Amino acid sequence: MKYKNNKLIIDRINVDFLAKKFSTPIYCYSFNKLKKNILHFKKSFQKINPLICFSVKSNSNLQILREIKKFDFGADVVSGGELMKAIKAGINPKKIVFSGVGKTSSEIEYAINKKILLINAESKNEILEIEKIANLKKKNVNIGIRLNPNTDAKTISQISTGKKENKFGVDEKKFLKLIDYIKKSRYLDLRCLSVHIGSQILSHKPYEKMLKAVNRVIEKSNHNFEYVDLGGGMGIDYMHNNKRLNLKKYALSIIKILKRNNSKIIFEPGRSIIGNTAILITQVIYVKEGHKKDFVILDAAMNDFMRPALYNAEHKIIPSKKRNGFSKKTYEFVGPICESTDKFATIKKFKKLIEKDFIVICDVGAYGTSLSSNYNVRPKPLEIMVKGSKIQIINKKQKLSELM
Ligand SMILES: *Cc1c(COP(=O)(O)O)cnc(C)c1O
Repeated sequence: MKYKNNKLIIDRINVDFLAKKFSTPIYCYSFNKLKKNILHFKKSFQKINPLICFSVKSNSNLQILREIKKFDFGADVVSGGELMKAIKAGINPKKIVFSGVGKTSSEIEYAINKKILLINAESKNEILEIEKIANLKKKNVNIGIRLNPNTDAKTISQISTGKKENKFGVDEKKFLKLIDYIKKSRYLDLRCLSVHIGSQILSHKPYEKMLKAVNRVIEKSNHNFEYVDLGGGMGIDYMHNNKRLNLKKYALSIIKILKRNNSKIIFEPGRSIIGNTAILITQVIYVKEGHKKDFVILDAAMNDFMRPALYNAEHKIIPSKKRNGFSKKTYEFVGPICESTDKFATIKKFKKLIEKDFIVICDVGAYGTSLSSNYNVRPKPLEIMVKGSKIQIINKKQKLSELM
């Protein structure tokens, strides 16, 4: 993305051209950026030779899953619906792992029928349920146990998952007890230790703590894990100031801390693959004068893009064309929905905007459309992908008739 003659260009296409050709709001992905992220991820962890399972909850667009699959990725799913979509996109079930604290019996049965790589269990009762179904079917089932390593990921508290007060995984003591239980089970095969401590992690230090906990449990367990699934969480540069996780440093930590272990490493990245590949193009409906700031009311809202409303996530907002001069007052960028949290950002100094201008919310590829809803009976927006100078529609805008 760059400005050429003060107009924003994505790959080789003018953003204003896209906004006028289709109706806003529009999620626009760059295939080149996606490819770049995938190759960078693979290269950073080359020495480890991991199985990379894309986190489908970060973006479950079928066309995107199909593109990612072409790079030998598997999938990490957290519901029966996501599993079905991953399979529909052509992802090999032998490369699919199923995580989540509340898998229902029918979801477990579906996963067993599809012979996926691993069901990563998160509690004793879930293991009992998987065992019950495996016994009924007389089928061997490969499982993992998710360790809660009691590690602070130093990220937004709402997306931290690896502390002992979080609902995810089991602590070290329970983990070791569960191994003994599974060893006696006729149909359960314990293949994997999994962890995932949270999302948008910017330093390798929390990961080092996590790895030490993982290593300790492996040593205490005396069990040969075929897989160690380290989850995802790698943070990206939302504020465009070069603060992102250094993947190579993380790779070195893994080699250093898990050196005596020869398990196959699994990663479950979502955000670091898809986050910065998309922008949300939206039009200014009104500029409304406020007391100390002006409200820029957009045709995109929290139903289209929920991260700021859900956990105060910060995203860059930029104009599609740069006018001369700046706004007199601070701009608050908001949607039309009847909620005070329907707000994207407050920006002090911004290029002057007038009604019908287009603006762009950056880095919306992860947890963008996958978190979107029909709140206020608003249809979900169009999704397109730019490949060089080609434009591909990868999800049509929902019709109001589908919402009746
Ligand atoms: C959400 C999630 C991920 C992906 O996290 P990112 O921060 O998007 O990389 C991976 N594994 C599990 C178990 C998850 O819940």
